[in-house]
Amino acid sequence: MEKKATEGLTTRLLHADRRGGVEHGATHKPLHPSSAFGYDTARELVSVFKGERSGHVYARQGNPTNGALETKLTLLEDGVGTVSFATGMAAIASLMLALLKRDDHIVASRFLFGNTASLLNTLEGLGCGLTLVDATDAADVERAITPRTRLVFVETIANPGTQVADLEAIGRLCSERGLLYVVDNTMTTPYLFRPKTVGAGLVVNSLTKSIGGHGNALGGAVTDTGVFDWSRFANIAEPYKKGEPRGWGLLQIRKRGLRDIGATLAADAAHRIATGAETLALRMDRACDNALRLATWLAAQPGVKRVNHPGLETHPQHANAKRWFKAGGALMSFELDDARDCLAFLDALAVVIKSSHLGDNRTLAIPVAHTIFWEMGAQRRQAMGIADSLIRVSVGIEDHEDLRADFERALQATSVAA
Ligand SMILES: *Cc1c(COP(=O)(O)O)cnc(C)c1O
Repeated sequence: MEKKATEGLTTRLLHADRRGGVEHGATHKPLHPSSAFGYDTARELVSVFKGERSGHVYARQGNPTNGALETKLTLLEDGVGTVSFATGMAAIASLMLALLKRDDHIVASRFLFGNTASLLNTLEGLGCGLTLVDATDAADVERAITPRTRLVFVETIANPGTQVADLEAIGRLCSERGLLYVVDNTMTTPYLFRPKTVGAGLVVNSLTKSIGGHGNALGGAVTDTGVFDWSRFANIAEPYKKGEPRGWGLLQIRKRGLRDIGATLAADAAHRIATGAETLALRMDRACDNALRLATWLAAQPGVKRVNHPGLETHPQHANAKRWFKAGGALMSFELDDARDCLAFLDALAVVIKSSHLGDNRTLAIPVAHTIFWEMGAQRRQAMGIADSLIRVSVGIEDHEDLRADFERALQATSVAA
């Protein structure tokens, strides 16, 4: 059955497998654990290898279960194709290693997921140039561009500070300069925001987070939005210039990223992620609502110095966030007054889990300076505006009253007067 363009996201997601044709009238595509795929004739095998006909050869480069998930991600991002990976980091590392060469220059946001920042340092060690910029201002991005710049990498909403990148203006800039614009959409997910609308050529999603949502599978993906003209990209190797230029980039990412690096998503994880993704819209609505209500309430409490959430009017990029995103996201962070002990605050929480994960159905909190930003030292933390008392909260879908009561209890328990 043809998919109707007028149908909503959730309807299309729920019926994508069935409409692709599933045996026995099953509502899900089956889980394919096969490592290898065989063909009746040598000629068929040869033509699949040459890319003359579609098919699978060896599961390191993909399997039908991952393919079904990739179809859904392409649908979610309104793109032209997707390659899935074992984790979000595998997706980012593979796209960088597949597309960059020594002496190429990367412009990236200074407010990046810590492991991505660390990966960029590794690439610098391999001979790439790197300039970190304040991505909330496209002018800063523009100043960093050199004749060797190959790509610009930003996140939509940064973690833990919730800074919102100057997404639209950076997109215009990249389009004017013919630069590949890569947006990590993990924090917003394609339900809140589609980077294609601001000119992103590639979109990265960690599927481990809100898209899978249940904290029971790791995964990542790179989606090509079809916006970027790959014939203008200097690093596409001859074997990958097959057919229309719109397919070149993703083909090179699949070949060099999956085939050569091997950071392949397991089929059973792909199946769990695809099942989780069916309720993306419902979960995000609830989690974002919980987050904004909690952030608003916390900002009014004595003992709380500062609250970061793009949905708050006090947020520096609130107007842009409101314009671009369906909601302000499920992530917030806040600082307690100096006299309060943030570890004791966390210990007083009974519902919220002390954990470094995010984008889970369960609400998770972590003392940022003491954990994920510990390795970088006090000086860099200060430069990044990470206070010692900063607590990051990935808000889940619990009943709101229970979350409020939990935070109220923790504030009382750490009350300085008490
Ligand atoms: C978690 C995260 C990643 C990495 O994803 P994994 O699946 O944990 O490897 C990348 N970018 C952002 C913004 C993230 O939050």
